[in-house]
Amino acid sequence: MTPFLLVTDLDHTLVGDPLALAQLNRHLEKHRQDYGTKLVYSTGRSRTSYQELLTEAQLLTPDVLITSVGTEIYQGEEPDLQWSDRLQTGWDRAAIVAAAAQFPDLMAQPEPEQRPFKVSFFLKPGPATTVLPQLERMLSDRHLPAQLVYSSEKDLDILAVKANKGTALTYVRELLGFMPLQTVACGDSGNDIALFCEGTRGIVVGNARSELLTWHRANPSAERYLATGHCAVGMLEGLVRLGYLSP
Ligand SMILES: [Mg+2]
Repeated sequence: MTPFLLVTDLDHTLVGDPLALAQLNRHLEKHRQDYGTKLVYSTGRSRTSYQELLTEAQLLTPDVLITSVGTEIYQGEEPDLQWSDRLQTGWDRAAIVAAAAQFPDLMAQPEPEQRPFKVSFFLKPGPATTVLPQLERMLSDRHLPAQLVYSSEKDLDILAVKANKGTALTYVRELLGFMPLQTVACGDSGNDIALFCEGTRGIVVGNARSELLTWHRANPSAERYLATGHCAVGMLEGLVRLGYLSP
């Protein structure tokens, strides 16, 4: 067995089935000790909200934590300042907030989810079909580079242009010294699509949301496995199928 880098989303991917999570954790903990496998969490949650999850779910301590949809990277307590420096380029948060205020359908998410390189709203799927292209055009007209990431038919994140779960994955992968094909990304929703675009291997859990399944089917890859099992069951199934863990 060789070491691998596991980069996984939390809600509805790693977290969601406590018994399966405990079983997967046992495999991963042993693999870390025996082979030097590394574990990275990549979540849309802020660090505060991640810490709340820690009180509910039995999670292993990750080697690196990526929060707020790729905009923040933590090794231990401290944010990675090299990463935040990269995200500064062209990012004008106040101007983006002002542009978004033109759209009454955008409801600001609670304050802890508003981050230096991420502005977050709730947006219903109906209005999303018109609001997203209009907002995109407005940001472009105002020369405000940003990415719009719409997930789970409710969350709209406006991110600094160089940040998403995918670019953060590649940054961390290079930091930890793993090759793309030694790396497995796992996810369930729209903001995880970027995780699957970095040339690594991938596992889409069986309970994935329609936006990810649609993308998965439109962009087939031999390196990406669609599990039948949900959450940690699907991850374990995929890790065995891809040859990283033995059954
Ligand atoms: Mg998720």
